[in-house]
Amino acid sequence: MSLAPALQSLPALSHSTPLSRAVDYMRISVTDRCNERCLYCLPEQFQAWTPREDILTYEEILAIVEVAVERGFKHFRVTGGEPLVRRDLPYFLKKLIETPGVETVQLSTNGTRLPEMAGDLYEAGLRRLNISLDALDPARYREITRGDVWPVLAGIRIAKALGFTSIKLNTVLIRHKNENEIWPLVEFAASLQIPIRFIELMPVSLTEMLTEENFLPVGEVMAMLADRDKLIPQDAKLGHGPAKYYRLKKTGALVGFIGALTNLHFCESCNKVRLTADGNLRPCLGNHGEFDLKRALRPALDKEGLRASLNQALAEKPPEHAFRNNWQPQRIMTAIGG
Ligand code: SAM
Repeated sequence: MSLAPALQSLPALSHSTPLSRAVDYMRISVTDRCNERCLYCLPEQFQAWTPREDILTYEEILAIVEVAVERGFKHFRVTGGEPLVRRDLPYFLKKLIETPGVETVQLSTNGTRLPEMAGDLYEAGLRRLNISLDALDPARYREITRGDVWPVLAGIRIAKALGFTSIKLNTVLIRHKNENEIWPLVEFAASLQIPIRFIELMPVSLTEMLTEENFLPVGEVMAMLADRDKLIPQDAKLGHGPAKYYRLKKTGALVGFIGALTNLHFCESCNKVRLTADGNLRPCLGNHGEFDLKRALRPALDKEGLRASLNQALAEKPPEHAFRNNWQPQRIMTAIGG
């Protein structure tokens, strides 16, 4: 299992321009559990879940957030696993949103539970959603995720009607699986006036489909879209992530591209760290280093210890990911937090 051969011909990531990385964005995984089994993410028979007692409580996460805010963090994304499968998530979101110094809170979800939960999320104060959607066709969607697309589509419409101010769609690109879905997804996003981002497959799981044959570079997708419509580059940054955006002239769609592997400048502006569900701070998805925060939380809160670990993680944030170097994941994406 490797994407490496497909990438051998690419030059190294570039640091020709200086790193401009004020790290102020934390992705918080609240669970490693998920109710879907995406081909590129979770092996179907996967059972090695983190024991529940090892997963941080909401209070422990909030203690970390307080210290992160002191250190200049402003933007937080709640993710997983699938965050909507964790009990009382709206309670946690409300607390997080109300934490002084927290400027934006976003939620990444597969959307399957949005129909029943969107109202509670909105009431908790959440206004920003990123929703994974790899296909519109129900059979294709099921093939990729092993789930049903209809609750996701219903959830997107409900969220839109409720008035969430930022809704974005995320599509992971898989050659031979969802190439034919790309244009329908663009039109769907345009019809709802919500941005859609296409994400290159990353070698962050243990599934067999992470091969060079399945890798579809964002450049190819841009060329595919350019055959149908004119791509107008957008200067404005949308949110706090690494996507580059284009407006499609005729459809009006706003399309983002996340080329973690083929964009040679990808890491230069990386502004984030990840907090795993079991309390490790990971400064880079594509490097194995993690800093254990739980020992500063249990048996009792040690704020100085948290500050020291956070400072160390930031000081040791690698300049770039190592996905090109025949990368072998040690922890899968759901355990780290997407
Ligand atoms: N369950 C939530 C969701 O579906 O958005 C949050 C967690 S999920 C791991 C976060 C994002 O990571 C999703 O957009 C997912 O498609 C993406 N992802 C997972 N495995 C990936 C891989 N191997 N390559 C690229 N993106 C991946």
